[in-house]
Amino acid sequence: MKKEFLTVTLIMLTLTLTAFFSVFEVNAAGTSEYIKVGLKYSSTAVTSATLQSEEGFQLILVDSSGFSEGMPLPAYTTIQVASENGAVVLRDESGTLLSSDLGSAGCIMPLDYQDDGVIRLDNVPYRGGIMFRVNSNGTMNVINYLSMEHYIYGVLNSELHYSNPKEALKAQAVAARSFGSLSIGKHSSDGFDVCATTHCQVYKGYSGEYPATNQAVDETSGEVIYSQGNPVNAFYFKNSGGYTQNAEDVWSSAQSYLKSVKDPYCPSYPWSISLTFDNIKQKLEAAGYSPGTIESVAISGKNSVGYVCDLQIKGSSNTITLKKEQIRNVLGATVVKSLLFDLGEGTSGSGGVFISNGKSTAALNTDFYVISGDNKITKQKTDSRYCSNGTKLTSLTGATMTQIVTGGTVTFIGYGYGHGVGMPQDSAVEMAKQGFAYDEILKYYYTGIEIK
Ligand SMILES: [Zn+2]
Repeated sequence: MKKEFLTVTLIMLTLTLTAFFSVFEVNAAGTSEYIKVGLKYSSTAVTSATLQSEEGFQLILVDSSGFSEGMPLPAYTTIQVASENGAVVLRDESGTLLSSDLGSAGCIMPLDYQDDGVIRLDNVPYRGGIMFRVNSNGTMNVINYLSMEHYIYGVLNSELHYSNPKEALKAQAVAARSFGSLSIGKHSSDGFDVCATTHCQVYKGYSGEYPATNQAVDETSGEVIYSQGNPVNAFYFKNSGGYTQNAEDVWSSAQSYLKSVKDPYCPSYPWSISLTFDNIKQKLEAAGYSPGTIESVAISGKNSVGYVCDLQIKGSSNTITLKKEQIRNVLGATVVKSLLFDLGEGTSGSGGVFISNGKSTAALNTDFYVISGDNKITKQKTDSRYCSNGTKLTSLTGATMTQIVTGGTVTFIGYGYGHGVGMPQDSAVEMAKQGFAYDEILKYYYTGIEIK
């Protein structure tokens, strides 16, 4: 019986897959019900791969509305995949040809995919199936095709650790699902929707799943955030430093649901980093600027909630003003952790007394600065004396002076971590600890939204 089946299988596989699949019923599905995740592409693209499934395989055909159930291959537990002359060739363990071309719409699933079966790609387990796409240089992009819910299973722990409170995990699951739904087609030129890195969302497949995170996905099954009837780009980040940001203050365009809110749930997250002027010059040059020798670094603008929006770097050849998130893009988003920072002279970061409106750091030295309510910073003469009633400083006039460092090393002293737009994960955790539900957390940080 088994031999007979194998013979039939091989004959059928030599027919084109498209012709074969056309006899199967189409599984109608919404476009965001499934997602294609790029696992290997560009520099990590491969020429061969090994697929394994304990219960055997099933070949399916994927289209924009879902997939057609295809040929079951219960007799095989290993399939060798190779790119040969622009085709994706399938062979069994002993090298016998199974298909001369899987095609770009063909997908190899575990036979038991509906019973939580997993497929192993070079020994790494994934839910759903694996697709391949041959590149112009003859290598293959490897793509994991799976349901949106299973995708979020593989994302959630990487974005928020499973040990966090359940309501925070549920808020993160809904945000990740919303973000995923809006990312369909983001990498379409490479044949998939999302990549598996921080560029889209970190995805680790079945190995990244935990009971607590899967439960948070299940308890919010299918829920997405909407604003004015449309799914939203549910941006999130680690720590706000006390205020979240308007989208337009960080990037360029405004969104009604991405508005700055005061964040009383934010745990303190101080950071500091010292950079030499040479170091800054190298980073600017790597980004295509030609500053010459750096002479000074100055904050020349802050927005209404204290985030730096203009960092002016004066060089012997050019003066460069980095704006908003460009500051972190050029200097390094893990180096300058947020835009909520002040500058200090030297490696100690001392050099001024920063008197603030409640959000800035203080470093004691001889120079004396005043930061006004609209965050203008004025360097005062050391013999000047100003009085405060606790919240408001008097004698502030013409406060346009920048915070400036000229000594060859600048220290950034800041609070918070991330771009500041949308939901701060540290605050979501804190709200959950205080007893707020996931929808209350989401509605606090995303303005005017609906969850459905
Ligand atoms: Zn990406």
